[in-house]
Amino acid sequence: MSDTSLFRYAVEAHEGRARSGILTTPHGEVRTPAFMPVGTQGTVKGLVMEEVSDLGAEIVLANTYHLYLRPGHELVGRLGGLHAFMRWNGPILTDSGGYQVFSMARIREVRDDGVVFQSHIDGSSHTFTPEVVVDIQRTLGADVVMAFDECPPGGADHAHAREANRRTLAWLHRGKARFDELEARGGYPAQTLFPIVQGNVYEDLRREHARAIREAGDWQGVAIGGLSVGEAKEDLWRVLELLDPELPPDRPRYLMGVGYPDDFLEAVVRGCDLFDCVAPTRNARHGTAWTTEEGQANLKAARFRDDTRPMDPGCDCGTCARYDRAYLRHLVVAGEWLAIRLLSVHNLRFLVRLAEEARSRIAAGDFHAWSRDWLERYRSPEG
Ligand SMILES: [Zn+2]
Repeated sequence: MSDTSLFRYAVEAHEGRARSGILTTPHGEVRTPAFMPVGTQGTVKGLVMEEVSDLGAEIVLANTYHLYLRPGHELVGRLGGLHAFMRWNGPILTDSGGYQVFSMARIREVRDDGVVFQSHIDGSSHTFTPEVVVDIQRTLGADVVMAFDECPPGGADHAHAREANRRTLAWLHRGKARFDELEARGGYPAQTLFPIVQGNVYEDLRREHARAIREAGDWQGVAIGGLSVGEAKEDLWRVLELLDPELPPDRPRYLMGVGYPDDFLEAVVRGCDLFDCVAPTRNARHGTAWTTEEGQANLKAARFRDDTRPMDPGCDCGTCARYDRAYLRHLVVAGEWLAIRLLSVHNLRFLVRLAEEARSRIAAGDFHAWSRDWLERYRSPEG
């Protein structure tokens, strides 16, 4: 029988809206602010899970939509669940599939009971309902599972966003009912369900949705979705600021899809605790790496040809310990697989270390001064 008391969140320190804390799950603790590497297909692209653990990540994310289509959640369940399948014994969060269905699949129909879509792999037809999405994630066995949501595109008008919120709220009630029903039935690992606040950039919709979500249950955490989808940065920060007083102060806030270094710090300033983004590994595939002093750098630039410094002299990752920029540039230009692996390790460690530093600065009470300096250096490249 699963036990939701295995989940706890304790805020340890505050500085303004920024906070540090510890999220306890059945598979271990997550110190926040935390960056969650994305393991879309049950793998953080190119890395073995020991490497992901060695670079300090304490929780990873996997994708419901992808694992449902391939290899299928029932197979993963029969093979012992996602932790066993991907050889990761730490906490896992699975997303709801909402974002992927609305961004990758070909939508056939959005109905009040769910979404009919075509697989991006073979065009086969599938239906996600709030119940189906809970069933899939129950079977995968992630620690944190997400309620099904409708994600309207970035530029959606108010009426469209309001309609999506209405559906997302109705789906939350149904998803929760299904989650509780399976809980009572037993046989599933301990899991917790997070709702997702939608509402695009519209203040009234964001507020209404956050309030309705609080009334709908005593959640162990709340996700903020529908941002980082092409809106202006000022809109993103404005939405986070207006949501701050609307969300439970003692529960973690997961800002979905945000994870470039500067955005990460700006969101920590505004009270967010959990983050995910494909940027570290995607940038690695494009030969791009983050540095403290030079911002985002593309190794294809000729200036790196005979640059014998580590990617980031202040970084403690395995890539920076052993290799220089000249060699990394050579690997990128030659299209070698090793380039992707080495840059993925560096970019992931860069964000995880940024989260670690933010955490210790919040505890020390100098987070705001430090993050202001850090952002200024990062945004004014010397090179
Ligand atoms: Zn590094």
